[in-house]
Amino acid sequence: MKSALDPFTILFTTTLTCAVLAVAMYSMHVSFRREVAGVGYWACGLLCMVGAGGLFLSRGLLPDELALPAANTCLMWGIGLSMVGTRRFFGAPPGWRIFHAVWVLELAAILWWLLAEPSFPRRATAFSFLVAVFYLDQLRLVWRHRTPHFTSWFFGVLLALQVVNVLTRGVAAMFINGEAADLMQRSPLVNVYLALANFMTLLMTVAFLMLATRKLQKILEQRSTHDPLTGVLNRRGFLQGFSGVRARQQRHDSPLSLMAIDLDLFKAINDQHGHAQGDKVLVHVASVVMRSVRQCDLVARFGGEEFVALLPETALPQAQQLAQRIQAQLLECQQPGVPSCTISIGVASQQTPAESLDSLLSRADAALYRAKANGRNRTEIATHTPLAA
Ligand code: GH3
Ligand code: MG
Ligand code: MG
Repeated sequence: MKSALDPFTILFTTTLTCAVLAVAMYSMHVSFRREVAGVGYWACGLLCMVGAGGLFLSRGLLPDELALPAANTCLMWGIGLSMVGTRRFFGAPPGWRIFHAVWVLELAAILWWLLAEPSFPRRATAFSFLVAVFYLDQLRLVWRHRTPHFTSWFFGVLLALQVVNVLTRGVAAMFINGEAADLMQRSPLVNVYLALANFMTLLMTVAFLMLATRKLQKILEQRSTHDPLTGVLNRRGFLQGFSGVRARQQRHDSPLSLMAIDLDLFKAINDQHGHAQGDKVLVHVASVVMRSVRQCDLVARFGGEEFVALLPETALPQAQQLAQRIQAQLLECQQPGVPSCTISIGVASQQTPAESLDSLLSRADAALYRAKANGRNRTEIATHTPLAA
């Protein structure tokens, strides 16, 4: 009776699975090629595996001397391209030297042990050890870029299992029973190896897709909370960050200050130098402010040329000093090719822990307005008015 787990059926389903996964990867590549690198290589790799599957399945139709080297090389390209994809995903060089060295060696080994000194065990051993290089290289990268997130560990564990899987096959082919590892023989060892390889291809592609999706999620989160021009927070990101700061500050009953920053006569800079140069000024000012504040401070672009900096655990005198330091820094750090500019700053500190953000902002704005009225390029302190919380 024919077993349900015969090699032909397993290879056939693996090939179909790879084809479907290639389409999924390709559609992700088309939609997010700029955001997530490497997915296109994974799609090409899966297509090569489809080609390899087709060639293995056509072994009866084509002579082995042609089908076997072609199928093995296709498979090597497939796994190698997924290594290139994983490398690109993590921002590493593509590793074409490893890719070409491995598949050329593999082709030479296959041809030698197929035509010159026919030996299936040696072919299987050479293939298994060489393909392990591709998995080990990816495992190294995943380890280097590991995050505590599940997807990172999932992909890493799968790669480690795959290394064990192919090395076991290599050793089995060499020492135990070489012919039993022939992919078209119906031995239990071959069926387990094939079924595992099929399942692992599916799992690893899913794991890589999960990694890519997570990266995309982070990019979209970043885009929805940051200003694309200057890279500082936007209003939404600021409000999100503020709720965290506020919770901490109320727990510790610490002071909280806020700076409202506005570029002086910025319209004139735009008119004189053009909008593009004006944009460079905005980027420069944002970078000077970012360099001057601590990591726990929140800097946001609120309007066209208006920035806000929230300073947790900072009392009014320190906030005032910081504002003056930023103004001095801006005068000192002139960037070549960027028009010079000055800024006016209004500083306010919370009167009571219950004072709302709106109240703090409007008092800082009033101080900023005074800084403008008093000649610009200066810092003014908000008055402590009895505002409603
Ligand atoms: P003041 O000192 O009173 O603040 O004068 P100002 O010229 O800076 O203020 P005003 O509000 O008159 O002009 C703000 C200018 O900022 C007008 C607008 O064209 C420019 N602006 C707003 N957003 C951007 C931007 O993203 N890029 C550039 N280059 N300019 C912008
Ligand atoms: Mg202005
Ligand atoms: Mg303004």
